[in-house]
Order: sequence, then structure tokens, then C-alpha cells
Amino acid sequence: MTTDVQRHLDARIREIGLDLFERAAEAMPRPWQKAWWLEQVTQFVERDARFKTGAYEFVECLPSLRDDAAIARHLFEYLDPKNVPMPATLHRLMGPGPLRGMRESVIGSMARFGAEQMAGRFIAGHDPRSALRTIERLRNQGMTFTLDVLGEFVTSPAQADRYVQSYVDLIEQITPVARAWSPLPILDEDDEGPMPRVNLSIKLTGLDPFFDPIDPARSIEHVGARLRPLLRKARKAGAFVNVDMESTQYRRLALDLFKSVMMEDEFRDWSDVGIVVQAYLTDGERDLRELIEWRTQRGYRFAIRLVKGAYWDAETAGAARARRTPPVWMRKWESDACFERMARTMLACTAEIRPTFASHNVRTLAFVLAEAERLRLSPKQYELQNLYGMGDPLKAAVVGTGRCLRVYLPCGALMPGMGYLIRRLLENSSNEGFLKQAFTERASHERLLLDPAAARPSSAALPTRRYRDTVPEDSMSSFVNAANTSFTSQDNRRKMIGAIEYVRGEFGREYPLLIGGEAISTEVRHDSVNPAKPSEVVGRVCLASTADADRAVAAAYKAFRDWRTTSATDRAALLRKVADRLEMRRFEFAAGMILECGKPWREADGDVTEAIDHCRYYAEQIERIESRPRRRDLPGEENVLVYSPKGVVAVISPWAFPLAIMGGMSAAALAAGNTVVIKPAGHASVTAAKFVQVCHDVGFPPGVVNFLPGEGASVGAHLVEHADVQVVAFTGSDVVGMAVLQSGARVRPGQAYIKKMIVEMGGHNAIIIDDDADLDRAVQAVIDSAFVQAGQKCSSCSRAVVLAGVYDSFCERIVEAARCVPIGPAEAPATVVGPLIEKEEMQRVLRHIERATAEARLLHRGELPAECEGGYFVPPTIIADVDPSSPLAGEEIFGPVLSIMRAADFQEAIDIANQTRYALTGGLFSRSPAHIERARRDFAVGNLYINRRIIGSQVDAQPFGGFKLSGTGVKAGSPDYLLHYMDARCITENTLRSGLVPDESQTNLA
Ligand SMILES: Cc1cc2nc3c(=O)[nH]c(=O)nc-3n(C[C@H](O)[C@H](O)[C@H](O)COP(=O)(O)OP(=O)(O)OC[C@H]3O[C@@H](n4cnc5c(N)ncnc54)[C@H](O)[C@@H]3O)c2cc1C
Repeated sequence: MTTDVQRHLDARIREIGLDLFERAAEAMPRPWQKAWWLEQVTQFVERDARFKTGAYEFVECLPSLRDDAAIARHLFEYLDPKNVPMPATLHRLMGPGPLRGMRESVIGSMARFGAEQMAGRFIAGHDPRSALRTIERLRNQGMTFTLDVLGEFVTSPAQADRYVQSYVDLIEQITPVARAWSPLPILDEDDEGPMPRVNLSIKLTGLDPFFDPIDPARSIEHVGARLRPLLRKARKAGAFVNVDMESTQYRRLALDLFKSVMMEDEFRDWSDVGIVVQAYLTDGERDLRELIEWRTQRGYRFAIRLVKGAYWDAETAGAARARRTPPVWMRKWESDACFERMARTMLACTAEIRPTFASHNVRTLAFVLAEAERLRLSPKQYELQNLYGMGDPLKAAVVGTGRCLRVYLPCGALMPGMGYLIRRLLENSSNEGFLKQAFTERASHERLLLDPAAARPSSAALPTRRYRDTVPEDSMSSFVNAANTSFTSQDNRRKMIGAIEYVRGEFGREYPLLIGGEAISTEVRHDSVNPAKPSEVVGRVCLASTADADRAVAAAYKAFRDWRTTSATDRAALLRKVADRLEMRRFEFAAGMILECGKPWREADGDVTEAIDHCRYYAEQIERIESRPRRRDLPGEENVLVYSPKGVVAVISPWAFPLAIMGGMSAAALAAGNTVVIKPAGHASVTAAKFVQVCHDVGFPPGVVNFLPGEGASVGAHLVEHADVQVVAFTGSDVVGMAVLQSGARVRPGQAYIKKMIVEMGGHNAIIIDDDADLDRAVQAVIDSAFVQAGQKCSSCSRAVVLAGVYDSFCERIVEAARCVPIGPAEAPATVVGPLIEKEEMQRVLRHIERATAEARLLHRGELPAECEGGYFVPPTIIADVDPSSPLAGEEIFGPVLSIMRAADFQEAIDIANQTRYALTGGLFSRSPAHIERARRDFAVGNLYINRRIIGSQVDAQPFGGFKLSGTGVKAGSPDYLLHYMDARCITENTLRSGLVPDESQTNLA
């Protein structure tokens, strides 16, 4: 573009923008209009950050509150006058005093009224009839519409069916009325003739509970199955369907699904369809190019709606948590500039696509209008769109220019619409958002109309939010966890499939012992098999005898002499090399665990991540401990607290976390300067053998890491008893753990130590569901926590303690959700419930289910698909009405079995949850700040998770381990953990030699 053309364009953008501002000013709400009052209330709420947060959080939970007392209690908890500044009248109403019941009912009515008004501002109606009233009002004002049914993700097929049915109802009830409207060419026609009068916007995540990038084929099959009938219905009725774009994890799936369905014969020549592209994505332009190119292949026109994107906060926080580069631009002007580039591309392609532009930013809209004018496009060749309830003066301004404006109209019940409502409230009040700057803060029009790209150097023009890193400045740790694999990437999915093939190619290989650096084959072997298909032998592992155990301990004992004197830096360097190798071979290690231990893809990948983290974290910790010993010098005396390694550590590890726990305990012991003898669980011994090989390859000296697979009862017990083993690091069942503790406590002949026993055992973990919980999120989290990896994680949930008020609906929803949990061999990417580890475990869990069913109510028992034939599978099972005092309620299960218990009130829920010998993990779903606070104080577990699933802890951020009979109370992945592998020594040196004080600073003591 020449400079002259650019100059002319800039001038037109300014002119158009100023004109829009002027028109908008005329349409600003006046004090006699409801919109004005709503705006005043919004501004009042947003005056104070604490008040705003409390108010929005309260609104978010309001629809789940049953009565006035609950509303008043929550309002008081969120807006406690002690902490949140508020007007005196409100303060008096909410503060302590007489007539509480009456005040509660006043508060309840006021809060409900306020929230309804607020919701009514953004939500067009709760059913087709009320939506129709809004549509007709808008039509009278010169605007058309697209209808969106509120709701984001669904947890069950039944919920998805209801979502689809809502669209069907809209089509059936609105289309006949719309046909009878008298024509309005601006709204009803585009450059190609009449446009559908009814226009729908749908979210693909609402169409099936399985919409997961880990298995695109299955997702497309499932979602496509509900999408097609809906499209058919819409097409027959002459309605338009647009596919909305959600967060980036679904973007690839959404594009692929849209393209594949729209290439089918039935839909290929249908032009009344569209999809969204997002300019806040750093590769949004790539998506746009892809769609435009695909248009040629399809041969028929379709619409593209360009938006900036509604999930900026969630995307940046999610990326920071996952240690990934954010997929979105980090500076506001970058999103604005990207929108303009993409808009230009779209306007140049009006023959191929129908461009639509959704924005409330006057500069953005003015750019679109000026560019369209430069290209001599008629207003019928493109469309502008706004959201219902946002920037209403701007809507009037656009309509005033004689253009078609389509308003996005969400409709439906308030509860599923909460996510949407909160996003709108936040968007309206975002400091960087255009609406706030233009209409609340009344920033200068000239400034707001600046070219975003040109405004870039003076970033003061538009303030910029900073990327929130995982490690805030006040954090006590600078540790950065490794990132899990993103299975949204096709490349990563291919790598995993390739790695599974690779590991299959190694099936049947023999794995020797490693003692004193020497590989030793033995006569007796253990076949480690694939629990999903036990005829497949993953590896043949040599089994050690007790004599081998003696040799291994002797080798470790001998190696300890030199190893203990190596510097922390050298030990840390070796551990970091191990971490790097694991990272390099992460797919191979994960694939190994998928096949050897039946871990689903994400769990296996997470296991590798955790092992990597342990190696790096303990490397960092030992350097910290050694470089900064605690000193407290006294005059003439130097005092230092140092830590020394203990000696030989027996690492006795489980199969549930084959790499993370075995590798973690070993890494801690080695970092601290000990030598290790690793005796892994038989079912995870191939994974352990490969880990030990990595240690050998990176250069741990002979004897420092010894590999001793063997029978627990003989070799394991022998190690525990051995007089030269100073530390036993055990993770496993409580039965074995207690025996290990007892045996380790005895001092045997020749033993000069009290053994340090680090014993981590099981849990019988509960999640409490409060009566104000977000039930969809709670159901999803309980399903994940109970059934992922067939419930065989020590952190898995085996009990849901549900408050009476939501008990029945929770039971109903969890059954619906459990019906569609994918079951099968772990190597299938979608699998959630894989096999149990061995036949005996399978039989034990089946017996438990039999007994449980006799004592309580069987709510759900999944069906095993044909692929499970011959494997050690147990269907996911849910038992309701379990008596909290029955023996059944207290047993650790370690399988895909969930017991549901009813609690009359929150205190009883806490009591039931604590009514177990264990204290490992626990969860709470609640929106009551007071209940959350009580759970923090009284819920007796080592790891408490609030409003999220209870599996999947991260090293350093969530140190893991429990107390009571769950373990000896150490926290793996915590700054204290290494100290358990060391002896603390205080060294005091008299520095006063014959009265000579070496340090001049101390001469004043004379
Ligand atoms: C009809 C319609 C349909 C919509 N459909 C969808 C949809 O399917 N999917 C979807 O995601 N959104 C959708 N949206 C929502 C839309 O994304 C937001 O309303 C829009 O981003 C707000 O942009 P704006 O131009 O109106 O306002 P502006 O205030 O100019 O821009 C705000 C936007 O800038 C971006 N942003 C904010 N802070 C930063 C930062 N620090 N760095 C970089 N970028 C930043 C964000 O995208 C934010 O929403 C739709 C909106 C409308 C009007």
C-alpha cells in the first residue's frame, strides 16, 4: 500500500471513528432509563477491587443457593464488612444485630433481584418465548441476531442431548415467527440475496462430553454425531449455523470437525454456515489462511466471524501453569493490530467468504469500515456484530450509519450461563478493554483511534497487562517444573504412538540386576506383563536372591565411602543429566508405563514429568543446603549446622507411580550423598531397569546405584533387616508398610544405627461436595479422581461425601457422567479407566464390589468393551447410600470404585471425611468462603485440594504425602524432604586461639 493510500485510510479511520463516537454519545443512556441505573450499579461495584471480586464471586454462586438464609450467609462471607468497604446502609443490613430472619429475607430478595437485573443485561431470555421478545425489540431498533444457548462443557450425553434440544426448540419456535416478519432489506439480505432470518451460534464442547484433542478421531465421531442432526434441522428450517471458537485446546478439533462435516455431500453446498477465528492468537492468521484455502477445495461460500477472543485470562494462566508459551498475544495492541491484518485479508476475499466482524472497539470497527470503503465494498458484503448488553450506545451508532448489525444473544438458564456472565462482567470492567476506556473513563477519542501498531512505542496509549509467570516475586522457590506433553499437538500424538510401537519391539527383552556397576543375570526371572493383555511379556527381569541383596548392600556400602565426599555440585550435575535423558526419552518411558502398568497416556506422561522434576528439584535443593549452611556464630565461637548423608538407602517402590516415586526416592537419596539399592515392584521392574540404566549411562560411579528386583517377602524384607542399610525409603500398601516399619525398628547385631524409616502408604480419600458447589465441575473432578488409572493412585478418590441438599442431583449427574468414561487398554489415547495391575487385584476389587452391593445401593456399573477381554479390567462402579460407619466405608480399595455418602450438614461431612485411618489426599467443592476456611483447618489430610480434582500434584508447588496411617509424614517434593536422608550435625569451633580474636570486628569484646 502506498503512503498516500495509507494516509488516506488513516484519515478515514479517524473520521469514521469520530463519527461513531459522536453518534454513540447521543445514544448514551439517561438517568430515566434502566440502562443508566445498571451502569451506575456496575460502576459502584467496580470502585473497589475487593468489593468487585467479592460481588462477582457471590453472583457466580448465587443460582446454586436454595433459600434466603443461604444467600444472606454467602453474601456476608463474600462481602464481610470487616474486610470489604461498603456503604453504611449495606453495612447495617449485613452486620450483626436483631431481626436476623427478616434481614435475611430482605438481603435474599435484594440479591436475587440485583443478580437477575445484571444477568438480564447480558442474557436475552431464559426460553425461546422470552428470547423472541428481545429479538423483536432489537429488530424494531434495526438489529438482527444470532442465538446462543448458554452452557459451556457437558459432563454427560444426557446433558449434551438437552443442549441440542434447546437449539431444536429455538429453531422450531422462532423460525415460523421469523418467516412472518415484514422484510427489512438491511437485515434480511446480503450481497447474494436473502439471508436466513434465524441465526444460531453453537459451542462444540456442548455437544458431547468427549471432546478431547488426545483422540481427535473419537472426538469428531462423538461430536459429529450430535452436530449433523442439528445442522440438518437448521438447514431444513432455513436457519444459519455458526460454530463458535472456544479455548485453544479445542481449536484444532473445531477447525477439523467443521471442515470435515462441511465437506460431506449433505452439507457441502450449504453456504449458511460459519466459524470463528480469533485474532488474539499468535497464529490466528494461519487459521484464517487455512480456512480461505479450504474454501477453494469446498467450492461453496461460508461465513467467517473475526473476534479478538474471549479467554485471554484463562489462556495466559493455563499456559503459565503448564509452562508453555502462551498461545495469545501478550500485549493488547498486538491483538488489535492482528485483528486489523486479519480483517484486511477477509475483506479482500468477499467473493470466497462472507466476512463478519465482532468487536465493540470503535477503532477496530472504524478500520473495518474504512478498509471496506477503500476496497469499494457494499455494506451488504460484510457484517458487524456485537454482544447483547455490551456497548449499547455503540450499537445505536452503527445502526445509525445504516449498516446491518447482528447481536449475539445468549439465552437459557442462569446457572449454565454463569461462566458467560462472569466473562462479560470482567470484559466490561477490564482496564485494557476498550469499552471501559471509552465509555467509563472517557479517554480521549483521538488517543483511542490511534493505529494500534503505531501506538506501540508509546505503550501508555493503551496500558498493557503483564504476563503472570508461574513464579511470583514473593514466592519462596524459583523452581520451574518440567512441562507435560500437550497432546493437542499431532506431532506429540504421533511420537507417543511411535514410542508404543518401539516399546512393543522390545517386548520379551531380558533385564539383569546391576550390582557394583556389573550387570548380573540370574536363573530365576519374572515376566512383567501388559495387564491389559497378560499374554504380552513386556520384559523378563532377573530376580535377585538374598545373597544378591547382601552383595548389593556391600557394593553400595563400599561406594558410599567416596560418594559421600563428592560435592553437591557434582551430584546435582549427574541428577540433572538423568533428568535431561528422561526428558529426551519421555515418550519411550511413558509408553513403557502404558504397556507395563496400564497407565493412560496423560498419567504416564505426568509420571515422567514428575520424575524429571524430582531429579532437578533435589539437585537444586542439595546445592542450596550445602552452599548455605545455617550459621550462628557467638563471640569467639563459630557454629554451623551441617547435614551429612546417612549411608546405604534401600528404595522399595510401588508400581502405581513406576518412575516418579522410584526415581524420586532414589534421586533424593543420591542427591543427599547416599548410595541406593533399588528394589522396584515386580509389575514396574522394566521401567525401573531402564531408569537404572540411565543412571549408569550418565556416569554414576559403580555401586552408587544398584538394581535389585526381587520378591518383596524375601529380598525386600532382607534389605529392610540388613544391618548396613541405614535408610529404608518405602512406598506401598499399609499392610507391607507397617511390617517394614516394625522390622526396621529392630536393631540387629552389627547394626550401629537406628534406621531411618521413610514409609509412605495408602489413603481412603474423600471429596466433600457442599450444597453450593458447582455440580458440573464437581462431578467431572470426582469422576477423574476416582476412575483415572482405574482408581489405582494413592491419591485417588474412593469416597464422595455429599451434602443432603445436593445428594440426589449429584448422584443423578455422576451416573450420567460415568456412563461415558472411556474404558479400555491404556494404549488407546482416550482411555481413562485402564486395567488393574494383576489378576489377584482384579479379583479382590470384584469381591469388594460384591460385598458393597449387598450392603448399599449399586448406582452404576460400567460395561467393559470387547477390547478388555482377557485383561485385568474392573468396570467403574459407584455405590450410593454407603453408611459412613460400616466397615465397607473404611476400607482402602485401590480400584475404580466410588462410595457415595450423605452428610446432613457441613460439619458432618468433615467428620465423615476424617473418619478413616488415613490422611493422604482430600478434596472439597464449595463456594462458601467460611466452609473453605473450615476445611483448611479441620480436614485432616496431607494434601487438600479445593474446587479441583485431587490427583496430579506438582513437585515443589504441592509437596506430596500424608500422615496418620498414610505415612510417616514426610513430604516428597518439598524443601524439607532431603533432610530425611541426612544426619544433622552441629559443629562448634573455638576461634579464640590463646586469647587471639581472629576477626577484627570482634575486638570490642576484650
Ligand atoms: C458477536 C460476537 C461473537 C463472539 N464470538 C466469540 C467466539 O466464538 N469466541 C471467542 O473467543 N470470543 C467471541 N467473542 C468475544 C470476543 O472475543 C470479545 O468480546 C472480544 O475479544 C472483545 O474485543 P473488542 O474488540 O470488543 O474489545 P477490546 O477492548 O478492543 O479488546 C479486548 C480483547 O483484547 C484481547 N486482550 C485483552 N488484554 C490483552 C493483552 N494484554 N494482550 C493481548 N490481547 C489482549 C482479548 O481478546 C480481549 O477480549 C464474540 C464477540 C462478539 C461480539
